[in-house]
This record gives sequence, structure tokens and C-alpha cells, in this order.
Amino acid sequence: MSTIAGTTKLLGVIGYPIEHTLSPLMHNAAIAHLGVDYVYLPLPIQPTDLEIALRGMAAVGVKGFNVTIPHKQAILSLLAEVSETAQAVGAVNTVWRTERGWAGTNTDVAGFLAPLQAHSQDWSQGCTVILGNGGAARAVVAGCGQHGCREVYVVGRNLDKLKAFQHSWQESPWPLQLHIHPWETLPDLLPHVGLLVNTTPVGMHPQVQASPVSEAAMVRLPRSAIAYDLIYTPNPTRFLQLAQEQGAITINGLEMLVQQGAAALRIWLQQPVPTQVMRQTLCQHLGLSGASGVN
Ligand code: NAP
Repeated sequence: MSTIAGTTKLLGVIGYPIEHTLSPLMHNAAIAHLGVDYVYLPLPIQPTDLEIALRGMAAVGVKGFNVTIPHKQAILSLLAEVSETAQAVGAVNTVWRTERGWAGTNTDVAGFLAPLQAHSQDWSQGCTVILGNGGAARAVVAGCGQHGCREVYVVGRNLDKLKAFQHSWQESPWPLQLHIHPWETLPDLLPHVGLLVNTTPVGMHPQVQASPVSEAAMVRLPRSAIAYDLIYTPNPTRFLQLAQEQGAITINGLEMLVQQGAAALRIWLQQPVPTQVMRQTLCQHLGLSGASGVN
């Protein structure tokens, strides 16, 4: 870590609990590499203390911070400015100081899109199927909207939650049609898939043998498809292994994690950031190979 001096500027991540966050590791590695006078700290803040914590952070001159569970939605009403993207997602993960007060956006969306944009294949022509309808699925839908997709198919296990999810996109800034499907209909969608995204935790360590798409169903995935798992450990997940066996291109969640962090650090520092250092630091910590996560 760089030396902390009287001039050192503060960044951090707020959440509760916060002990398991990987963000300080990734950001402090980038800060040390750049040699800038910043430090990035984990800040445990209870839900009832969010408002007072924002005032406190302004008072001590914090330059910016990331936001994680349980504050990502609750913080929206406490900010002076919220980007269109964060409004559409309904969650903020990056905040910075402006003359008017705290401003927020959601860099998960750019993080999700980055490895897809690095790929030459035009995935938005085929049908986009999203597995799961939780918080991460919201960033994925926004990414699809921002990229210009016209239709997405969201597959979930709870019809009431699916309907609420669909309803919440009615005022979205993009001309996006969002269809909802119960899990049983997934095999019918698979032959038409251009992009298949897993946003459920199914297959995450230690349940490494689990996959949200069965082996029998995955044979219906076209060779031309991209399979994207938001999970980053293990790499590859069973879901990605099965997709790879069909000849599909696969992307794991590590790059989204790296790129959402890089996008946040760019906002705070207003300069290019060392994405490769951030990626390598995470890979080393998680015991993963240093590849970009796109296969
Ligand atoms: P979340 O809000 O809890 O949403 C999880 C979704 O998965 C819900 O729709 C849930 O359905 C569904 N689900 C859970 N277990 C399931 C099962 N056994 N079968 C079918 N559906 C199931 O969680 P989240 O914040 O969206 O995170 C989801 C995953 O994305 C996690 O693995 C997380 O680590 C990963 N993630 C990665 C990144 C990254 O940067 N790579 C960023 C964010 C999240 P119900 O609503 O019916 O319970």
C-alpha cells in the first residue's frame, strides 16, 4: 500500500457486512501502481446510519465511495444527482462529491458490457436470455438497453417477482421489450439464443457442480451463442463448461467485477486506470488464471 500522509485523500466502500469485499484489494493495488495520494477503505455502515454516514463522509472530505448491500437502493433518495443508468437500474454502486452534494451512478452496467464490447461478435442480433431477476439482473437489463437490444427474455422461478421485475422496466429510457418466462420454458428459448446470461448464484463456490441450465437442455444452445456467467468463482462454472462443450463463446464474471471497479476509479481520479493490475490482483487473490475471462 502507498504511504498514508496528511494529504492522503479518502475513497472507500460502504456496506453491511463489508468484511468479504474484494474492492479495497483491487483499488489499493491500482492506487499504488499509479502512485496517487489516495487510500480506499472498507466502511461498515448499518442501514439505520446511512444518512448520517453520508453527512459524516462529506464532513471529513471523502472523495468518493462504492456502495454495496444493503445500501444500493436506499442511497438513491439521499443523493443530489443520480445518473439515468442508476435510475433505470434502481441501484447506485458508485458515488462522488460534487458542489451540489453526492452524485451517484451504477458502473455494474458498464462492467457487464465491457467484455461483450471487447468481443467482435454482434450478440444483440440474436435473442438475449437472462436467468434470474434479482439485483444483478437489473444491471444486465440496463446494459442490454444501453447497447440497443430491442427484446430481452428474463427467466425466473417466482412468477410474482418476475411480473414486478417486468413492471419496473415500463418507464425505462430504452425502447426495450422485456418478456418474462417461467423456468420450465427455458428449453424452448435456448435454440434462439444470441446471449445467455446467468445472474443466479447457482454454480457459485462451493456448489460447483450445479448449473442453472441442465446438460440435457444446454445441447439446444446454438454454437454461435455467447454464454456469460456473472459468477467469478469457480472459473469456469459448470454452466460455462456445458456451454463451451456446445462450442459457445464463454465469459465469466471476473471481468465485470474488474471493469465496474475500473469505471468507478476513473470517475474518482479523472484519469486512465490500470485495469490489468486490478485484474491480476483479483486473480491472484482468488487463485484464478490471469486471463481476461473471455474464452
Ligand atoms: P439476488 O438479488 O439475490 O438475485 C438472485 C436471483 O437468482 C434471484 O432472481 C433468485 O430468484 C435467483 N435464484 C437464486 N437461487 C436460484 C435457484 N436455485 N434457481 C433459480 N433461480 C435462483 O443476487 P444478485 O445480487 O443479483 O447476485 C446474483 C449473482 O450475481 C451472484 O452470484 C453474484 O455473486 C453475482 N454478481 C456478480 C457480479 C460481478 O461483478 N461479476 C456483480 C453482481 C452480482 P428468487 O428471486 O426467486 O429468489
